Amino acid sequence: MGVFDHAEFDNHESLHYFQDESTGLQAIIAVHSTALGPAAGGCRRWIYASDADALTDALRLSRGMTYKNAVAELNFGGGKAVILASPTAPKSPRLFAAFGRAVESLGGRYITAEDVGCSVDDMRHVREQTEFVSGLPQSGSSAGGDPSPWTALGCYQGIQAAVESRLGKDSLEGLRIAVQGVGHVGLFLCRYLHEAGAELFVSDVNPDNLDLVRSELPVTEVAPAQLLFADVDVLAPCALGNVLTSTTIPHIRAKIVAGAANNQLATAEDGARLAARDILYAPDYVINAGGIISVAGEYYGSSSEDEVRADVCRIRDRLQSIFDQARSTGRPTNELADEMARNLVAAAQ
Ligand code: NAD
Repeated sequence: MGVFDHAEFDNHESLHYFQDESTGLQAIIAVHSTALGPAAGGCRRWIYASDADALTDALRLSRGMTYKNAVAELNFGGGKAVILASPTAPKSPRLFAAFGRAVESLGGRYITAEDVGCSVDDMRHVREQTEFVSGLPQSGSSAGGDPSPWTALGCYQGIQAAVESRLGKDSLEGLRIAVQGVGHVGLFLCRYLHEAGAELFVSDVNPDNLDLVRSELPVTEVAPAQLLFADVDVLAPCALGNVLTSTTIPHIRAKIVAGAANNQLATAEDGARLAARDILYAPDYVINAGGIISVAGEYYGSSSEDEVRADVCRIRDRLQSIFDQARSTGRPTNELADEMARNLVAAAQ
């Protein structure tokens, strides 16, 4: 299949392939839209089964970034980078420097940051080659640094909104919450949820990350294959996408799905499937915008940490309003969020 007839192609502005022989870097940068500003979105490093899978991820994730940045009212368009991880291209400062040169070659049309498989430290090597990178360590009360704690804060706010809307409760005390993936975001989210009195059920395929959360918090471990179907009030997917499908949705027991992972719905119709089962879904790119809000504050140098915190906490109101509309119109939440995002981009164009 080519690019223009690819199922995930959605009028993307440009697509860029990079290869660096000396480090083995192979990367794709997808610029979905620059209507609202430079295309911003993290860099994912992942082992893909094929180039085609990497392309699919880049196309989907970059469009998601356009929607996320628009709804979060940021002066950013949407883009995403994927680095194809392989034994011949091990993670190294040189690899990220090569990626930095790739980002630099786009002259600011794309701004990168860390995502799954990358760290703040990796971005420091990107920064050696380009200024078009954010999510770097900061000093004092400046905004920025690791976006994950901000993403977790936004998710926590979103879960509160969903619990209020679906369960009519203003507290998480005693609620059973399942967190799929206790990596950068999942661990911070677990800390917030524990602090709020929730009972936690977690899964991860990385034993080190499980050990870390277990050493710090009282959690019940659930096998990865079972977590989606746990008997809980809230399911928070914080690993990878495509977890909400026609196969999994009929077996989900949670009344709310609200988590950080990008592209949780396999297809838009899966949003309707959740709604039909009266499962309240917090659209992923609305609830997980905390990190990019911090990245924007850092990149534009315009916000203090307190201002970023206040902006991230607005995710709660934004979701509340989507939930209210869903209730009054009977439409799925993902459909309402997509419509809102598309209207914002169209107005800018
Ligand atoms: P991460 O790589 O640090 O954590 C993901 C965790 O999920 C890892 O511990 C991994 O082992 C685990 N995992 C993978 N497959 C799993 C499975 N099948 N079952 C259970 N656990 C599994 O990534 P992260 O930065 O925490 O991001 C998590 C998700 O949130 C991703 O989808 C990412 O795109 C999204 N997201 C992250 C941010 C951010 O600020 N980091 C912002 C927005 C969205």
